[in-house]
Amino acid sequence: RLKDGRALAEDVWSIYNVANLPPDCINLGQGYMNFAPPEWVKKAAEEALGTVAANHYSHPKGRMRLRQAIKKVYDPQLRRDLDVEREILVTSGANEGQYSVFTAFLEQGDEVIMFEPFFDQYLASVTFNGGVPIYVPLHPPANASGKFSSDEWKINPEELRAAITPRTKMIIVNTPHNPVGKVFTRAELEMIAALAKEFNLLVMADEVYDTLVFDGKEHVRIATLPGMWDRTVTVGSAGKSFAATGWRVGWLIGPEYIIRPTLAASTRIVFCSNSPLQEAAAAGLEQVQERRFFETQTAQYAERRDILTGCFDMLGLPYTNPEGSYFILLDISRVKFPDDYPFPQSVLGRGRDFRACWFIAIEIGVSSIPVSEFYCIEHANIGEVYARFSFCKDVDTLRQASERLKKLK
Ligand code: GLN
Repeated sequence: RLKDGRALAEDVWSIYNVANLPPDCINLGQGYMNFAPPEWVKKAAEEALGTVAANHYSHPKGRMRLRQAIKKVYDPQLRRDLDVEREILVTSGANEGQYSVFTAFLEQGDEVIMFEPFFDQYLASVTFNGGVPIYVPLHPPANASGKFSSDEWKINPEELRAAITPRTKMIIVNTPHNPVGKVFTRAELEMIAALAKEFNLLVMADEVYDTLVFDGKEHVRIATLPGMWDRTVTVGSAGKSFAATGWRVGWLIGPEYIIRPTLAASTRIVFCSNSPLQEAAAAGLEQVQERRFFETQTAQYAERRDILTGCFDMLGLPYTNPEGSYFILLDISRVKFPDDYPFPQSVLGRGRDFRACWFIAIEIGVSSIPVSEFYCIEHANIGEVYARFSFCKDVDTLRQASERLKKLK
């Protein structure tokens, strides 16, 4: 069990895994694509498998080619000359990287602030490492009756300040945000940065959806704000950027005093990350600029988003229109289902959203994720109002899902 009493074996990804749902159910639940990485990236993976070196352990810091490629992409954005030996660490997915930061930095009882709803994995990763999660709400607009922007989910600066104690060690800033899709504004990040500096806190900038920002909205890296490089670790992911979530290749970028102990932890947890796919991720990052890959991909994702939001507009249910990431929160409080439906045990005893998502998956044929999982137990009732739909799927699949979802009415 997690320390808050939640059963470990019943994480939401296992309950709503496609393996538990009918084969013809369209998966808009766990966020992964139903299309392949780009050809040139896959080719690099094949080439890497054809070499001897790339089939063996890489340096625990990550393969040099990938660290160089990360530097190429991030140097101009961070306005730095990143040191590939000291300031970049390749990890087994962003998740392992974050876990290793917690292992390296958290002492028993250290508090870690996260905005709620939060990506559920943070809760386990923080508590496994002796940390105490502290939740600061992201407030949705009051009385939203239709479509509203993810930007309208707001932090109250006073609530954030009040959450800081002498035990606070770190704030997690996830932008673009899972599950809200919020892209934090420069002003919001400046407010968080000012508090981090005032109270000497580390910032974990989870930016794994950084290449998926829509409508001309600016993705601001908190590490670029004045005085913030020195206290920020930025998290990135090949899986999100190149439609390759199963590769488990991610990275951390930050000052040497954060990267060095995190490398020591990571080396003892996984030793190194899988080698051939690091080469593929490197090839991906090396060529994104000349291919204008992220620009093209973002436009495709915006189109995918609009298919699903078009359906929700028609249903007239309130939902959050995301400015980033590939998630839409749908307000399901008006969606009806029978109480005596044969729900599995894993879903009973959880929030109403768990039952609603199960019913929608089985009876309507589209899976989604209940959002109370992204809230602590005490606040789960706030999340019960929403189901999270992922739109990282091809256009035909999303059209088909929209057709089915019309039955929600
Ligand atoms: N980040 C992905 C999502 O939110 C996958 C999460 C997971 O499988 N743990 O859907």
